[in-house]
Amino acid sequence: MKLELAKHRKAIESSDAILVLACGLGIQSVKENMRVQKPVHVGCDTLFMGAIDSGGSFLERCSACGDCVLEQTAMICPITRCPKGLINGPCGGQNKGKCEIDKDMDCAWILIYNELKVQGKLHLLKEKRPPRDYSKSSKPRQLKLA
Ligand code: SF4
Ligand code: SF4
Repeated sequence: MKLELAKHRKAIESSDAILVLACGLGIQSVKENMRVQKPVHVGCDTLFMGAIDSGGSFLERCSACGDCVLEQTAMICPITRCPKGLINGPCGGQNKGKCEIDKDMDCAWILIYNELKVQGKLHLLKEKRPPRDYSKSSKPRQLKLA
């Protein structure tokens, strides 16, 4: 970011303000790396970390919970895709594979069941998962690699 901002220093100096069309992380990164005193403005409301499908829609697939269960759930995230964030199977409200919270949405646990069945891993559904360790998602989080 520092390099990019340095590359465009002249343009930045001659502008009134910077409008950042990026996620919240990008906006803060611009602000923290600006060496020229200019107002920075938010250009986007960040909704979530999304994966893009073939139709061009962004879909929330991970909540960065810090305690990943994908190995046990056929790579389908129940923390994010089940509105209740259930980790030990469905709530019982699903109807014909659709979620009781949103009838247009697949029940995450039906998806997990079907995928585990294909993979021959249905035994994983019998494993009880302990309550989640929410200390791993207390904010602000930091990761030091060295
Ligand atoms: S369990 Fe879900 S929210 Fe947590 S890290 Fe894995 S994919 Fe992300
Ligand atoms: S119907 Fe399925 S996806 Fe919806 S809240 Fe219940 S378990 Fe979660």
